[in-house]
This record gives sequence, structure tokens and C-alpha cells, in this order.
Amino acid sequence: MDALAELVDLARRLGEPSGAMAILAEGNVSARRDDRSFWVKGSGKVMERASAEDFSLVAYGPILSLVENREHRPEDTAIREALNGARVAPGPSPSTETLMHAWLLGLEGVRFVAHTHPVSLLALLSTEGSEALAKQRLFPDEIVLCGPESCWVPYRKPGLELAWAIADAVTHYHQRWRERPKTIWLQNHGLITMGETAAEAEAATRMAEKAATVWCRALATGRSLRLLTEDDVRHIHTWPDERVRAEMLRRT
Ligand SMILES: [Zn+2]
Repeated sequence: MDALAELVDLARRLGEPSGAMAILAEGNVSARRDDRSFWVKGSGKVMERASAEDFSLVAYGPILSLVENREHRPEDTAIREALNGARVAPGPSPSTETLMHAWLLGLEGVRFVAHTHPVSLLALLSTEGSEALAKQRLFPDEIVLCGPESCWVPYRKPGLELAWAIADAVTHYHQRWRERPKTIWLQNHGLITMGETAAEAEAATRMAEKAATVWCRALATGRSLRLLTEDDVRHIHTWPDERVRAEMLRRT
């Protein structure tokens, strides 16, 4: 399957109503085509019934120069013109979040990026102090698929400000863990996952939402929580058996 066909499939699976990851035009997904261009969902397109025509093929160059030039914050209309002008083939207007997709697709081992608004996670991300929860883990599979911590990003306006905040948070996470995050939590907004395959991004999305549901239910009991210790987390994170399992999941 080529990257675009895999991407269409990923959008549809993440848009399935039963998953509660994205409804209507929520969410967006992208995939690297080559060193110069990538596919990203068109603005306003519905993931659940996505088709190849709903994606734009966009050049990295003009998009990354917007993200990397912090001295200059163009007007929103100029950003929209730059996004539309970056298309290298006829296609829909690229999503506003094309900026953050372009930057994340440049990370090592990332060929697919998925951004969703999962219901349970959004509930957590809308509570006071959720940045502390991003650093904690409740069960082993959460570590395997979502990483030892989630990368936390404070609320920013969608578009350029959000792309800047994501770049800062991911850079900070990388300094701390010496690897890229598997899951990025966006305060009052949603989730970003990444992977070398569409399956890896999908698995991280599903597990992040499951973990958030477990958090919500555990908190709702009103009882004290038993969290995995830092030692437990590091053990699972570096355990060879778990690495093998994560690799298998990545490929299926
Ligand atoms: Zn969003």
C-alpha cells in the first residue's frame, strides 16, 4: 500500500464513531511522501469518510520556513495563502494544522502523524493540573505504546502559535528522554501521536484514549491512586521483551 492509501485508511479508522477520537471535521493526519513533500488532510474534510481527494500534497520548504522563523508572525490571511501556495498538486486547502504536521514529520522515525480529539483524554486535558498526569503512568501497556511520559503542551491558538509550542515541548522532551515522544497532550485541545507506520500512530492513539478512560474512572472512585513508580516505568520502558512487543505492534 502506498503512503496515501495508508493515510486514508488511518483517517477512516480514527474517524470511526465507536472510537470517539474525532467527529465531523475534527482531527487531521499526515504522511511523508519524500524529502520534499507530504500528504495532509484538507481543511474541513471528515476523517470518517476520507478519500484520497481529501488530502493535499504539500511542499515542506514554505511551511517549515513559517514555523522556523519566530521573528516574524505573519497575518492569518498570509498564513492561509502560504498554506494554499505550498500545494504541489491540485488538492483541497490544507488544514490549519499543516504547520505542526510539517515540523513533526521531520523527526527521526516519523512517517505518519495523527491528531485527534479523544473524548476521555479531552476530559483530562480540561482539568486543572493535567500537566502532572502527563508525567505519570498507570499500567505497563501505556508505557509501551504511549512512552514513559506524554509530552505536555500548554493551550495555544491553533496554527502557528500551536506549532511553535509543540516544537518547544518536543525539543524539551527530547533533551530529557533522548528520544522523541510517542504521545503529545495538547491542553484543552487533544492528542498527537506519531510513528514510522500508520499502525504505530493508530496504536498510540487508541492506547492513549484507553489510559485516559482508566484515569477518569480511577479518579471518579475518589480513592487514592496507585501510580507506577519511576523505577517501574523505566524498567518497562527499557525492558527488551517490551521493545520486541512494541516493534511487533508497530508492524501490524
Ligand atoms: Zn485539533
